[in-house]
Amino acid sequence: MDTKDKNIEASSSQNRDVDGDPPQITPTDTSRETGNPPRFLIVKRIEGDFARVNPFTIEKNLYGVIGNAKNISKIREGLLVETVSAAQSRCLLKAKKIGEFAVEVVPHNNLNTSRGVIYCQDLLNCSIDEILEGLKDQGVLAVRRIKIKRDGNLIDSPNHIITFNNPVLPKRIKVAFYSLPVRLYVPPPMRCFKCQKFGHTSLRCQEEQICICGKPLHVGSPCEEPLTCINCNGSHSARSRNCPIYKQETAIQEIKVKENISYFEAKKRILINTPTPNVSYAKATSSPPKSDYTSLVDQLIPKIVAAILPLIKQDPPSQTSNIDSEKRKREMSPDFVSLLQEMRLP
Ligand SMILES: [Zn+2]
Ligand SMILES: [Zn+2]
Ligand SMILES: [Zn+2]
Repeated sequence: MDTKDKNIEASSSQNRDVDGDPPQITPTDTSRETGNPPRFLIVKRIEGDFARVNPFTIEKNLYGVIGNAKNISKIREGLLVETVSAAQSRCLLKAKKIGEFAVEVVPHNNLNTSRGVIYCQDLLNCSIDEILEGLKDQGVLAVRRIKIKRDGNLIDSPNHIITFNNPVLPKRIKVAFYSLPVRLYVPPPMRCFKCQKFGHTSLRCQEEQICICGKPLHVGSPCEEPLTCINCNGSHSARSRNCPIYKQETAIQEIKVKENISYFEAKKRILINTPTPNVSYAKATSSPPKSDYTSLVDQLIPKIVAAILPLIKQDPPSQTSNIDSEKRKREMSPDFVSLLQEMRLP
């Protein structure tokens, strides 16, 4: 057992599994209530999909309904549309037909929100519901209190994770008579409790159950040396924060939230930005079957960890929290479509 392991963050009012998905929030209704409709919408066909449809026809018909959008891209669920304005979002949300196709329009689950951390000792005197009530007129959808481990016990900390109904994180938030800075929240890497690998949860795991020591699960008996990390083959437990794969996953999480992209896109972006001699750009950016992709990534990760980490470390927390949100958004947009297109599964 790796005694250096510490659970710095744990579940809060929403009982989030440490290895599980983040709590599911439903930005749709709340964001409509606050008069701030989501800007990333998915247009789904009621029957079938857009796979065998003329793209010129789709574009013409869509623009006929809402005018020119900022971005359109095809994703598995349908068409992902980034609108240019709140009014355009409202218009698209009401659409029932695009040309001859019956459709429904729903907000994208993750792209319409952002999460930040605020520090406030006084909030420890409030329940989570009271905090949410006090902040909801600023577009706050959810509040979680970060817990820390002290002497083996989990205790509440003054740090709170705030989910906003807007992909652009505000720089400050008003908490009663305080005006507090909002830091970008980077979630810890997601590690499966069943197979100990990163990037999925035990609920979706189809791998064999492995102990953190690298041996088959042994209930009731302690882990014995030698420890072998399932992720990097190093002599530490799969929970070790010194594991190069853990550090790599932390870097992926940071890119994911900074760029407002999916986990797989963030992982891919690291590969694209770090060409290796044995893998061509085309191979790294093609869409191989998922299993091939995973093994390709796993082979490359140890080689690129060293290149990525110094870059991440140069970015101190204060800069992270003060990231210019508008600039971030502008930088994100040109790559947005191509990344999503590349992401499509075969
Ligand atoms: Zn698993
Ligand atoms: Zn063990
Ligand atoms: Zn390791």
